Amino acid sequence: MGKVLIIGAGGVGTVVAHKVAQNPDVFTEIMIASRTKSKCDAVVKAIGNPNIKTAQVDADNVDELVALFNSFKPEIVINVALPYQDLTIMEACLQSGVNYLDTANYEPKDVAHFEYSWQWAYKKRFEDAGLTAILGCGFDPGVSGIYTAYAAKHHFDEIQYLDIVDCNAGNHHKAFATNFNPEINIREITQNGRYYENGEWVTTKPLEIHKDLTYPNIGLRDSYLLYHEELESLVKNFPTIKRARFWMTFGQEYLTHLRVIQNIGMARIDEVEYNGMKIVPLQFLKAVLPNPQDLGENYEGETSIGCRIRGLKDGKERTYYVYNNCSHQEAYKETGMQGVSYTTGVPAMIGAMMFLKGLWKKPGVWNVEEFNPDPFMEQLNKQGLPWHEIIDGDLEV
Ligand code: NDP
Repeated sequence: MGKVLIIGAGGVGTVVAHKVAQNPDVFTEIMIASRTKSKCDAVVKAIGNPNIKTAQVDADNVDELVALFNSFKPEIVINVALPYQDLTIMEACLQSGVNYLDTANYEPKDVAHFEYSWQWAYKKRFEDAGLTAILGCGFDPGVSGIYTAYAAKHHFDEIQYLDIVDCNAGNHHKAFATNFNPEINIREITQNGRYYENGEWVTTKPLEIHKDLTYPNIGLRDSYLLYHEELESLVKNFPTIKRARFWMTFGQEYLTHLRVIQNIGMARIDEVEYNGMKIVPLQFLKAVLPNPQDLGENYEGETSIGCRIRGLKDGKERTYYVYNNCSHQEAYKETGMQGVSYTTGVPAMIGAMMFLKGLWKKPGVWNVEEFNPDPFMEQLNKQGLPWHEIIDGDLEV
């Protein structure tokens, strides 16, 4: 049905490649390209399908991307490199007539700040070119938006309160490690918290608000309020929402390490002089931390991510909780990667599948909740991320 180019051969890229290869009726030709070609070759070897092509590309360089796109001629690019590369890849897509999908919104390298404005600014150009760009199609952002759209379509007349809850109850047996790219992860968590209430954004100190929440099959976990990018598009696309928040669990050991990292200056993203050269402390830290791709083998436990929603149906108050639990070990057995890479890579593959099947094809730049959630929800059940729902239970939030 279609040719796909995956950019990025990290934890998420590896899962995307496995899942794309498992669906040969949809993805008829596959290429994986990244900064380091040997990593792409290793992914292909692990999958054991020699028909998957590989290439080296610097995704910060539009000309290099355009040359690659023009030679392979993909219909869609799945961008699972880093958020820094979103705009160059979108630019190259426009120049070569290729459709686009990513899992994280653009961030400039020198400021730890993310918002959709930079990518939404491309809307008219994608529309005029007749190309589709699908933004934020991992788990959160991604499935969190699709769950919300599904709830709005089938369970509510009006969504009023939305709490996205993300629990990782896994244990990788390392003193400290991040589950995805450490630089992006630490930048995200050390920022101020932010949530939406009555038409305004409320800012909190980093990790200032937290509460115990109960996760299915896991139990109580201390959950911290963070700002997360999908809140920005969800409150815009569902204007009846009065309050929207995002919660993520952290263990005390993780938070203690994080505090020390910050206190000693290792979370800095500005350049410092070291032995006659300039280094960015957070990038140096990434080089010495465990590689998230190597955590899978000894990772036990599971993740549980979902949406807890309160609103009105037929004039009555209703609550709805929709979630997925994903086992790190099962993810590892299938793809060689842990659950966080798995829960991101599977939805990215499904998003590209939705596009190639013509179900999510509309020129412009869109967040996932702007498409029909039904065929995506159906695929989640088939592709390894089954979901469950609890209607009119206690949401705790
Ligand atoms: P990794 O760091 O493991 O992988 C990133 C990959 O991108 C690496 O292969 C890296 O190459 C490659 N890369 C980096 N810079 C360039 C460049 N300039 N040109 C070409 N390739 C480049 O990250 P993850 O796999 O953990 O995460 C991938 C993406 O998924 C991130 O954007 C992350 O924010 C997002 N994510 C989204 C989630 C969601 O639920 N929506 C959850 C988790 C992650 P090299 O190997 O040479 O360094």
